[in-house]
Order: sequence, then C-alpha cells, then structure tokens
Amino acid sequence: MKNKKRSWLLLSAFQLLFAVFLSAQTKQKADLIVTGGMVVTMDGPRSIYDDGAVAVTGDTIIAVGPRAEIEARYTASQTIDAKNKLVLPGFINGHTHVPMTLFRGIHDDVTLNDWLYKYIFPAEAKNVTEEFVRWGTRLAVAEQIRSGVTTFADMYYFEDAVAEETKAAGMRGVLGETFIDFPAPDNKTNAAMLAYTEKFLQKWQGDPLIHAAPAPHSIYTCSQKTLQDAAALARKYHAPILIHVAEMKKELDDSKKQNGMSPVQYLEKIGVLGPDVIAAHCIFVDEADRKTLAQRQVGCVHNPSSNMMIASGVSPVPEMRAAGIAVGLGTDGPAGSNNDLDLMEEIDLAAKLAKITKMDPLAINAKAVVEMATIDGARALHMEKEIGSLEKGKKADLILISLDEPNAVPMYEVYAAIAYSLKASDIENVIIGGKVVMRDRKLLTVNEQEAIAKAREYKKKVAASLGMQ
Ligand SMILES: [Zn+2]
Repeated sequence: MKNKKRSWLLLSAFQLLFAVFLSAQTKQKADLIVTGGMVVTMDGPRSIYDDGAVAVTGDTIIAVGPRAEIEARYTASQTIDAKNKLVLPGFINGHTHVPMTLFRGIHDDVTLNDWLYKYIFPAEAKNVTEEFVRWGTRLAVAEQIRSGVTTFADMYYFEDAVAEETKAAGMRGVLGETFIDFPAPDNKTNAAMLAYTEKFLQKWQGDPLIHAAPAPHSIYTCSQKTLQDAAALARKYHAPILIHVAEMKKELDDSKKQNGMSPVQYLEKIGVLGPDVIAAHCIFVDEADRKTLAQRQVGCVHNPSSNMMIASGVSPVPEMRAAGIAVGLGTDGPAGSNNDLDLMEEIDLAAKLAKITKMDPLAINAKAVVEMATIDGARALHMEKEIGSLEKGKKADLILISLDEPNAVPMYEVYAAIAYSLKASDIENVIIGGKVVMRDRKLLTVNEQEAIAKAREYKKKVAASLGMQ
C-alpha cells in the first residue's frame, strides 16, 4: 500500500515535470511581451482585453489577446508589466512642421497674414539652415514621444535632415519636402527643388521607419505645373503626396475666381487627387468636394487647435466621416497655429470643437476621436496595413498610459477616459517598431536636455535676427 502510494506520487511528479518540459518546448519565443494591462486594440471589431497582453518579435506584433493565453503560448527575453495601465496603438500626428518648434511662440494673437509675412517668412529666411532643422526636429521628437505619438507626417525644408533625426530617434515618419513657388531656405529654384526631392525619395526607398514624400505646399503657393510635377514625382516612387487643402476662406474665394471651382475640384481637374494624397485641414469642402475626396480615397487630417487658434474655420469632420473619408488628427504648428505637439489635446479638442460648432453634444463621440488618432489616422496616411491598431502582423507601435493617477480614476468607459480625462503626462512607455523609446517616462533615443538647451540658444539668435528683445 505504502509502495503503491509512493510510486503514484513519483508518477505524478514525473507527469508534472513532463508537462512543464512540454510547455517550455512548445512555447514560442518572442522578443518582448507587454502584459497585464487593459489592451485597447482598435482592430476591426474594436476588441478590448481587460487583462491582456501583446507579444512582439523584431518590429512586428505576433499576437494580441488575453494575458493567460499569450503567456501560455509565448516566452520573451523582455517583459513589460502593464498592470493598471492602458495599452494602446501609438498615436498618429497626421500634420505638422516639426522644425518650427524653434519658432514656438515667436508671435501669437495676430492674423495669419501678419504672422506669415511679418514674422515667419522673415524669420525663416534669416534662420532656417540644415542645422536649425536638425535641432528643431530633435526637440519635436522628444515632445511627440512624450505625448504618445509614434508616427507623424511632416512638411518642411531640408526634410532629409528631418528624416535622419527622426530615424535616429526611432520614430516613424511620413516626411514631405516642401514644394513652393518662391526661393525656399533649402532650394532656390524649382529645378533644385525637384532634384533634391528625387534624391531624397531614392535615399529612403524601402526604409522601415521613414516614408519620404513630396509636399506641394498648397494651391495658393504652387502653380499648376509645380503641383503636377510634385504628384508625378511621388507617383514615380510610389510615395504619398502631402498638401494643405482648403485651409482658408481666401483660398476658396481665390480658387473660385481664378479657376472657377473649389480647391478640391481644381486639384481633381489637374489630376493631383488620388489614394496617395494626404490633405491637411479640408475646412472649406462642400458636399460635392466631400464626394470627390471619398471617391479618390484622399486621406484628410483635421487640426482642431490650429483651426481655433488661427480662427480659420472648422472642418466638417462628422460629414466627412459620414461620406466615408478617412479623417486623421494633427497638431499642425507647432508655431503660430498651436504651439505644441500634444496629440492627446487634439483628441479632446476634436470632440469638443465638433460639439460646440454643431451645438450638439452628440456630434461626435469619444470612440470616434480615438479612432481618428489611431486607425483612422493610419488610413488617412494610407498606412493602415502597417500601423494604427494592435493586431498580429502590424508594426509594434504601442504606448502605455498610467491609470494610477488622480485624473484617471474611476474609469467607467475607456474611450471617454482617453479622450477627456487622461493626459499626455500620464503616458509612461512608448514602443516603436518593437523598440522601447520611452521607459518609465525617460526618453532613451534622444538627448532631451541637450535639445532643450539648444532651443534656448536658438531663441536668442532668432529674436536678434528680427530685432526683438
Ligand atoms: Zn500646416
């Protein structure tokens, strides 16, 4: 009897060991597991796992699901505990001009026209060099990572330097070299602009983080030929086209006078619109324009802070979404039309601006604005196969937001918490392409202190160049 019991015990011990051995054998190896948080995937059914996990190999997500399931299937060399945190896809800033961080606050509370012609154009002519662009970008990547941005779309000069700094910080960027019909800080002629941009597009072909693009500034600063040249170049290299569209009432009025049609119809007529276009603002777009934008699968980017600060008007976001247009969110700025790169603020304001404009609190809801910052932002940049949600096969761009904050509790509804109560300062960890770029609020890929010190130095130079104190 005793022997029988002992052999039974031995047998079960053996079985247990065997089971452990088997499960260790069958567990797949991942590089990183983020586990134990509330995972808000933004996938098709908008799945949420209260106690979830995300497994990552290389720069790609290999599994998302309940923690128990993921932990049973995977082991990893690196684990991040996400208990009491939200795990979200990284935010997408669909429109900005990052080197302009160094002009932040140069002159505010003026009309757009005064701001442009009295301050920004002279300041740019006197100060913007490749070095300036590098330091402005370093400051901007630090600020953006802190606000949970993992991908941004940019339009500026010396964009190759923006690309190098973005890549060095491990961020994802759709980076547009500006086409404009006056001598720019980098290229003095249209021929130089075309040559620079073609080289820029060739250099970054196939890069996992950087998507180089031509960025014809707008219909009011570019001739028909410049617009068409930029589009042709983009299409030769399968690159996107970044452009400001219908951002001012004057642009609409002038287009009607000069072209006999709206800015959207003019761009359609000259063959620029297509499923590779990323149109910032789209404020003055009527029903016919919205139909055209939807048919051509143009991605639109709404910039609520900028719309309000410049008092340029309000983009008809609910109508654009209803027409089937992918609408993302952007900060614009960061100088003159916003002054920061905090995308969480845009999520909040996008909802509130639509509500007050329509005098209807149901005009747009929290879930919709979170979609605009993530999956719809990805659709607007034509990158929805790559980013925008936490799904197997997508890039591992994710953020962890602390819920152990006074402003985070209690949490009844997660989308409302993201849109209205959580702040960028609650973001603790940011991972881009499987690489941790911010851990416990510490930036790992950019020297933040150096960028801050340099920004103070630039302020003195810029102020002196304009004869300011
Ligand atoms: Zn802009």
